[in-house]
Amino acid sequence: MEIKSVGVVGAGQMGNGIAHVLALAGYDVVMNDVSQENLNAAVSLIKRNIDRQVSRGKVEEDAAAEAMTRISTTLALPELGQTDLVIEAATERETVKIAIFEDLVPHLKPNTILTSNTSSISITRLASRTDRPEKFMGFHFMNPVPVMQLVELIRGIATDESTFKACLAVVEKLGKTAASAEDFPAFIVNRILMPMINEAVYTLYEGVGSVKSIDESLKLGANHPMGPLELADFIGLDTCLAIMNVLHDGLADTKYRPCPLLTKYVEAGWLGRKTQRGFYDYRGEVPVPTR
Ligand code: NAD
Repeated sequence: MEIKSVGVVGAGQMGNGIAHVLALAGYDVVMNDVSQENLNAAVSLIKRNIDRQVSRGKVEEDAAAEAMTRISTTLALPELGQTDLVIEAATERETVKIAIFEDLVPHLKPNTILTSNTSSISITRLASRTDRPEKFMGFHFMNPVPVMQLVELIRGIATDESTFKACLAVVEKLGKTAASAEDFPAFIVNRILMPMINEAVYTLYEGVGSVKSIDESLKLGANHPMGPLELADFIGLDTCLAIMNVLHDGLADTKYRPCPLLTKYVEAGWLGRKTQRGFYDYRGEVPVPTR
């Protein structure tokens, strides 16, 4: 089945990036969120980001204008029912995702493929709450979506081959590269990346280093393009904590215990760049370490 239209649930940092690349690749995109403000902000941000690509000569002006006409928004989830593929990119909380799929299912065309951009939650478990586990899989983009080359494709236990192939064709049309991962907690990238970020937070918590020295050490000493704490702020500390909890619960190994300091930042609402404060304070001209 050829995918022509895509519904994106959640217009946050991932949802807007996903809508951006899909529209540029020629898909009709309907974005849904519970907040009109977030939908408006996502469309303006997509416009700004596509305009930047035009000014850098990466996208033609006509293609940019056309892409923007392909994006529509709605507060009504059932409107996504007529699309060929749904990519759910709402908040990383299983109850939120299950409620979305349960609300959406009665409105879906029989052939619509359902996917989740979850960073860590079991695809098989999410699929079991729908009427089509064979047409359900993980479609995991990396952040920022327009820049990052990889998409992890995760089959649930029941995902059929035609669903996998249809999603692979979308990844290829986006000009990105797919990595196939098995459905175990946090898949491949975050299984490796999040324990490193969590360890960086422990290193801070135990006073081994400051925010600045930890980030500088990994940048200059391990050639990472961003320090782990800077990266955590970029991802969102709530998302990092949610992924560590999934690893801890799903693999039942204390080595995945979320650092209490990470929990404390999330409790404070210091979620990183998206709330202007995390391991750095972004409210001034330059980011200032908060510890
Ligand atoms: P975000 O907080 O920026 O955005 C989440 C959006 O979902 C918000 O706009 C919120 O209003 C919306 N939302 C919440 N409940 C909803 C509902 N019931 N219906 C519709 N919309 C709803 O989060 P994000 O960083 O964009 O993450 C979204 C998903 O993508 C998560 O599953 C996350 O694990 C995954 N992900 C995140 C990253 C990352 O680096 N941030 C990378 C890959 C995957």
